Amino acid sequence: MDFNRYFTNDELTAQLNEWATTYPNILTLGVLGQSYEGKDIHLLTITNKATGADTDKPAVWLDANIHATEIAGTTTTLRILWELLSKYGSDEKVTRLVDTSTFYIVPRLNPDGAAWAMAAQPKYVRSGVRPYPYEKKMDGLHSQDIDGDGRILSMRIPDPNGEWKISTKNPRIMEKRKPDEMGGTYYRVFAEGLIENYDGYVFRNARPHQGLDFNRNYPFEWRTESDQYGAGPYPTSEPEIRAAVDFVAKHPNINAGIAYHTYSGVILRPYGTKADDQIDTNDLWAFQAIGERAKELTGYRTVSVFHDFKYHPKQTITGVSNDWLYENQGIFGYVIELWDIVGRATEKYERKFIDWMRDHPHEDDVKIFEWILANGPKDGYVDWYEFEHPQLGKVELGGTNNMYTWRNPPHAFMGEEAERNVPYVVALGEMLPRLNVHQFTATPLGNDQVHLNLIVENTGYFPTYTNNMSKKRGIRTVRVELDLPEGAEFVQGKRKTDLGHLEGRASRSGIFGMGGNGTDYRARAEWVIRVPSGAGAVKANVISDRAGTVQVEVTLG
Ligand SMILES: [Zn+2]
Repeated sequence: MDFNRYFTNDELTAQLNEWATTYPNILTLGVLGQSYEGKDIHLLTITNKATGADTDKPAVWLDANIHATEIAGTTTTLRILWELLSKYGSDEKVTRLVDTSTFYIVPRLNPDGAAWAMAAQPKYVRSGVRPYPYEKKMDGLHSQDIDGDGRILSMRIPDPNGEWKISTKNPRIMEKRKPDEMGGTYYRVFAEGLIENYDGYVFRNARPHQGLDFNRNYPFEWRTESDQYGAGPYPTSEPEIRAAVDFVAKHPNINAGIAYHTYSGVILRPYGTKADDQIDTNDLWAFQAIGERAKELTGYRTVSVFHDFKYHPKQTITGVSNDWLYENQGIFGYVIELWDIVGRATEKYERKFIDWMRDHPHEDDVKIFEWILANGPKDGYVDWYEFEHPQLGKVELGGTNNMYTWRNPPHAFMGEEAERNVPYVVALGEMLPRLNVHQFTATPLGNDQVHLNLIVENTGYFPTYTNNMSKKRGIRTVRVELDLPEGAEFVQGKRKTDLGHLEGRASRSGIFGMGGNGTDYRARAEWVIRVPSGAGAVKANVISDRAGTVQVEVTLG
């Protein structure tokens, strides 16, 4: 199957329906909720239905395309889904994962915004299409396609005070004017668009008419519009985010979550608001160890948002999904910023992402321009052409067409970008905590009495909790409930027994031969029961919020 492509809403729905029909035993196509415009938000549940319900297995959550233009995430989640569907039954690892765990996948959290971004006459908004915070457009320049060619480019106007000039390296592109540079021909550069309430002299960039940013609408440290733009009137005010939050909160079997965004080619982890010395140390070590593995599998670094991805060094962003997943739900939460045109063109994969945006050598711009000419879509870079602007008079339109260059990979690169993300999700699936009943035996003691011995273990990398949440008692401990045969009764022990949490390999020391951790991945429970009939079976139901549910049975007599 070819993933060098993007999916419109109709194409996405058709593809998912086709797969749901072809793979009914392991795939359920459901609805997470409805968008603001009433479109279904598709939810895919992947697990072998014959080996138990999705909620009885440890799970990974994936969502994508919360930001309207970031449609590469949708193709990436479909590629991951395809891996699970197409290799189930033939690939040993995939088969085991689908048999013993659950993947919840929301390939397009924001179908309204994606429809606008993919329209023949596209409109690019941050997230939702609902006017926010005001019904009417605010004063200033609003970015839009003004000449009806389906592209939203840049406008340039000669201006002696302008901050741009024609490049000294290549006359087709623009170069930043030096701080002390005088005497040349300079330009002002604006987004292609129209100005609301223009007086003929002065305008600013308007706040977008559709100013919502769904990834500020999560409950984690949510802030008001006066503090942070786009966060919505209250946490989870937007139906898309409310649906996602509601689902995740009701599924404590989710251990890890990834939200796919673009761009930069980096994996972001908590916190966005606090330094690493504020994270629970064991959780931090797990994040770091998983990050090392992620680098090997994807080529992407894993970085703390606070330390390495703040848009402004003195400002933090709140109300975001991955901090909410981790801090409020105890889930290992990530954002993956797919695609890195800067890295592709300059090989500066290890740059400081945000610092580069603010300032970088002009040679990098030349390399990116040349990369787009060689690899991008045919209108990936548009040479400047004259246009009579209804408000500004004669302007030139041109420059980079960002949608399939910067924001998303050119179509020919989409498949490999999606592909490189598959092993990481498979790896997270392998790390999930899993319950295994090592032993469940019944030994007759005489006088109708039977001794029951149950040994439960966690075979996963993750423990059955995250440290930050267990401190808050947010994740329930592992527990066992017994069903005795008719007429039987407890002599020692009770029907419900708490086994505490079980460790995973994540907490292990890296130094060999300096002692171990004993059997902290294991718990034992014992009972003595009286069984007058001397026959029947005892059922044990072992339940963990995180690691799933296992039923075992021992026959008496
Ligand atoms: Zn994004």
